[in-house]
Amino acid sequence: MIFRQRTIAPSCLTEIAKGTLNNRYGAIENQLAWGLQYESKIKNPLKSNDFQWATYQGQKVNQLIEDDLRNMTQNHCAFCDIFPLRQSGRTIEHFRPKTRFPKESHLWTNLFYCCHACQEKGEQFDENLIKPDEVGYEFSSFFVCRFDGDAIYIKPNPRRTDQEQNSANVTIELYGLNRFDRPEDRFRVWRQFNDSNNPTIDEFPYRFLFL
Ligand SMILES: [Zn+2]
Repeated sequence: MIFRQRTIAPSCLTEIAKGTLNNRYGAIENQLAWGLQYESKIKNPLKSNDFQWATYQGQKVNQLIEDDLRNMTQNHCAFCDIFPLRQSGRTIEHFRPKTRFPKESHLWTNLFYCCHACQEKGEQFDENLIKPDEVGYEFSSFFVCRFDGDAIYIKPNPRRTDQEQNSANVTIELYGLNRFDRPEDRFRVWRQFNDSNNPTIDEFPYRFLFL
């Protein structure tokens, strides 16, 4: 999980929502209006909790924002950094889970390009979870890579405070960073990178191994 600068929100999210100029919230952007709609839906026992992306000019919002999210991570998963994500199956992750934070279900800063394995986090959340676009976040501040045979494990950086190590542990756990054969796959990629002539970092998964 490497730092990714949050880019400017796509205009479909920041456009002022129709009909909100005179309502009780005042003029609000689509990203908040759609969140409020989802919140009222899940609070209504007569309606299903199923999450649906809002529609903008006849298109689903997840399709409209996917390119921007992909560009933010160069087609890598924002959490495990697997690449190329478009081919291997991608999804949009709600960092703060949508059923617990429905207002943030369409909020640009809550959304990340993500692989299916990392998205098994589901509705779990912890306030100590590390967010990859947090200003000042660096992989090496929180994590270290530990070689063990033919595997590379991600561990909390032992030189950091207990609280920072707790954040690292929570992030490793909720995104399964040492599960799904990832340690073995990281070792394989690390060898491949070292065997390459002039490797381009962005074309390899797990870029934190080479930074
Ligand atoms: Zn992932």
